[in-house]
Amino acid sequence: MKVIDLRSDTVTLPTDAMRQAIFDAELGDDVFEDDPTVNRLEGEAADVMGKEAALLVPSGTMANLVSILTHCQRGDEIILGDKAHTFLYEAGGISAYGGIHPHTLENRPDGTIDLSEMEAAVRLDNVHFPRTKLICLENTHNVCHGIPLTKAYMDDVADLTHGRGISLHIDGARIFNAAVALGEDVKTLVTNADSVSFCLSKGLSAPVGSLVCGTELFIRKARRVRKGLGGGMRQAGIIAASGLVALDETVERLAEDHANVRRLAQGIDIIVGLTVDLNQVYTNILYIDLVDDSKTAQEVVTTMEAEDIRFLTISPDRFRMVTNRGVDAKDIERVLSVLNNYFSS
Ligand SMILES: *Cc1c(COP(=O)(O)O)cnc(C)c1O
Repeated sequence: MKVIDLRSDTVTLPTDAMRQAIFDAELGDDVFEDDPTVNRLEGEAADVMGKEAALLVPSGTMANLVSILTHCQRGDEIILGDKAHTFLYEAGGISAYGGIHPHTLENRPDGTIDLSEMEAAVRLDNVHFPRTKLICLENTHNVCHGIPLTKAYMDDVADLTHGRGISLHIDGARIFNAAVALGEDVKTLVTNADSVSFCLSKGLSAPVGSLVCGTELFIRKARRVRKGLGGGMRQAGIIAASGLVALDETVERLAEDHANVRRLAQGIDIIVGLTVDLNQVYTNILYIDLVDDSKTAQEVVTTMEAEDIRFLTISPDRFRMVTNRGVDAKDIERVLSVLNNYFSS
């Protein structure tokens, strides 16, 4: 039977068109900046984001690391949410490799940070303090139920940075999910950000790759940082070819993933033993609580695994499911029916 894999949208396999594009890709040496396919992808990514230039990197983690190391010097401080992916899940890279001081503020349940707290967190120019150089926002916010941050909020944060020598970076690993969910052009959404990173390898289904977008000057500096981190890739057109197809082929269909998550949430909500917050269903990420004392989360996951249904447990009584291109509406019905049988037996 088909395995229904809801562990993440990173499990998506390349489309047939991507595989063909990889096969046909015109290649060069990208460290010499002469891989035509990489150059084309970087050009298109910059256009799509409404920025001057873009840089291909191997992962979303490196995209954030390169961006933050380009904005900041050692000893500088960045403001970011306490539930930010960069703070929680990127191996502390900004501190380990950049000597950058993370100043975390509470992420509210809607993924935002209070503007007056942010304002108060900006350091005065004083020898005792690190210099505040950057604010990072995450859109969509992974841990906060995949919620999209609105343009109005991001613009308010951008306003706060102006005239203070502070920049705004958007960790837009899933920025296209945000744009699709908000019905907003992605470039409008990020107009006032100084840099934006996004992943090709999540819902967009490419096998590898992320992009950093910003001004020409920023990207020129970022290219040197990427090389220093060991992220200079040679015939990277192999990767870029699939990214070009991803931008063309898989952005609009993210709406299907969002519809599937909603159906999943509605179905799970009526299963005794599981609860979801129907007011916290936004894009393609769903958190589910186990409220059945007779089962552990690990038992549930193991039982479902035997039924070829995969998802993650993220705490002793919480699961995460992420819809993606490999899972269709029929698969969602099967997940609901198997879960329903298990919890009613
Ligand atoms: C997945 C993710 C990243 C990192 O991407 P990788 O390609 O897995 O390194 C960064 N930020 C957010 C919000 C993510 O969800």
